[in-house]
Amino acid sequence: MTRPPDDNEHAAFDALDRIYRDVDEAALGLAAVHGARLACRPGCAQCCVDGTTVFAIEAAHIASRRGALLSGAEPHPPGLCAFLDGAGRCRIYEDRPYVCRTQGLPLRWTEERGDGGLVELRDICPLNDGGTPVEELPAGECWTIGPFEERLALADIAFDGGGRVPLRSLFRNRETAEE
Ligand code: SF4
Repeated sequence: MTRPPDDNEHAAFDALDRIYRDVDEAALGLAAVHGARLACRPGCAQCCVDGTTVFAIEAAHIASRRGALLSGAEPHPPGLCAFLDGAGRCRIYEDRPYVCRTQGLPLRWTEERGDGGLVELRDICPLNDGGTPVEELPAGECWTIGPFEERLALADIAFDGGGRVPLRSLFRNRETAEE
């Protein structure tokens, strides 16, 4: 059973939807640049791993939009994301969290080295690793991890203090509520 969002949740979810729109616009731009190398297609669930966590605001957003699914359907068996269907498709695609909106793109991020300096790291799904090596791509042709995470973290803190929630736990929460 789902209850409608209250005023605080409405405002928080509107802010989250704006972030998602910006993410999608930027991700679509990069997908157009890399179209020839991207093997991403409906039914490919290589990146839909089990154990994925999302910001608490994103978990609440999914719960508010997908109450019927959470109360009436079974999670995908452990081993892959609980929200996959039997054909490897996402059952919450329109409301999927941030981390799912950039998968498949060349990713770049920085980490601190032991000596306190920064090192840039890059990665891409092995299915999309044809063409120019990801290490040789211009920075602007990669998804930079960091800026959107900061926006999401701020929205999350304003919502409920911040935190991470396993996607699968949304189904477990449903089961707990029914006990
Ligand atoms: S929420 Fe959807 S897109 Fe994200 S990991 Fe799960 S099935 Fe894949």
